[in-house]
Amino acid sequence: MDYLPVFLRVQSQPVLVVGGGVVALRKAESLLQAGARVTVVAPQLCASLAARVARGGLTHLATAFRPEHLAGAVAAVAATDDPAVNSAVSQAARARAVPVNVVDDAALSSFIFPAIIDRSPILVAVSSSGAAPVLARRVRAQIEALLPARLGALASFMGAQRARVRQALRAWARRPFWERVAQGAVATRVLAGDEAGARTALDRELHAARLIGTGAAAPLGEVYLIGAGPGDPDLLTLRALQLLQQADVILYDRLVAPEVLQRARRDAQRIFVGKEAGDGGQQQHIHALLVRLALDGKRVARLKGGDPFVFGRGGEELEQLAARGIPYVVVPGITAALGAAAAAEVPLTHRRLAHSVTLVSGHGETGSAAEWRFFADPAHTVVFYMGVAQLARIVARLRAAGAAAEHPVAIIEQATLPAQRVLRSTLAAVSARAAERQIRPPALLITGNVAAFAAADALGALGAASAPADAVA
Ligand code: SAH
Repeated sequence: MDYLPVFLRVQSQPVLVVGGGVVALRKAESLLQAGARVTVVAPQLCASLAARVARGGLTHLATAFRPEHLAGAVAAVAATDDPAVNSAVSQAARARAVPVNVVDDAALSSFIFPAIIDRSPILVAVSSSGAAPVLARRVRAQIEALLPARLGALASFMGAQRARVRQALRAWARRPFWERVAQGAVATRVLAGDEAGARTALDRELHAARLIGTGAAAPLGEVYLIGAGPGDPDLLTLRALQLLQQADVILYDRLVAPEVLQRARRDAQRIFVGKEAGDGGQQQHIHALLVRLALDGKRVARLKGGDPFVFGRGGEELEQLAARGIPYVVVPGITAALGAAAAAEVPLTHRRLAHSVTLVSGHGETGSAAEWRFFADPAHTVVFYMGVAQLARIVARLRAAGAAAEHPVAIIEQATLPAQRVLRSTLAAVSARAAERQIRPPALLITGNVAAFAAADALGALGAASAPADAVA
């Protein structure tokens, strides 16, 4: 380790920045954000630094650097493009024991600026010790994705409750209590923006902690109802990823891709609760399992393909949890229709082709004649979920409702997964083509003008439109 990472308090302290360009501006901005009193020394300023100086909040000395500018400074930054000046700043600062950073020159620097993630009061600093700043920035981006946006709010929330908790709990009980708060229902609430709910959850945790002290209660569990998206793990939301990293137990369906499960905490218990269509008993079993695990104090991720509220029975599971006062959060996922549309390049709406879209469950006998007439309009896009087994019936109903034989359709099998297949056809031909190509679930059927959309077709049209008028004539 060539550097000691420390956090320097520069609040209301003088810091010197030598240089008049955009790099100097960037450094000055970071220092100002940390509350430093910044003095910029440069005979001339670039336009953006001049504009920043004009806005106030920092001092500009329009002169060449002299060592006495360092008087009283708690740190100095050299950001000029003149190596002689940078080196003079470095020498003068070191002679006075003022920490100095020379931009892009680790040898002349006594400290370096890390890449930072600011979730104040939580700060994360990443450095490559000057070896590969690009790499440090990439690491920063990766960590950024893992840290909830409201992490700072959580830190402040916990800070505000410290005195109260110190009063309520003995010293030995506090640490495990805060661990639970940081990883459980309280944190989940704050991170979801619900501070009132968080205070209620904290009261319950505090109550439980006192009872645990007497051996009487288990800690509170909670449930995360998470949409896992259509299959490609990179299509998980950041919040889904964060909660998957924290859950103790994961209940997952048949539609949840193994690649998605791999993103969960390594030591989390994984329970497959996949069910066949219309298996009511299994749904009861899932409800009972969710409730039991949460009451045992577990953080349970209920992972569902796509979005939990699109043909996912998510609403029924929430009713069960709410009835027993078990805390939960719902995390949306990219539903199969959106994943398939993007992957197969079928825009669900398009100014020329379709103005509305309906998501329909393809099994069951639902839908009035009027509804099917609406579905049969090619300027309306319909996405049938669970429709493969019912393909012939769907085709027949659309035709009976007035849809043309050439009404465009597309079938997308295993959308967003490596095995994805796209079949484009027409109402008249699709049943035979699907049988021939052995289309299997999970697959979606999309009907309407957009199903025949091909971006490549626009090439000719755009080329003609952008050609000079006389060339067309
Ligand atoms: N809640 C899920 C849908 C569950 S119903 C969602 O929002 O996506 C199950 C149906 O979704 C399947 O029968 C199929 O029609 C569709 N489906 C789910 N994942 C799919 C995928 N990767 N490719 C194509 N269809 C998919």
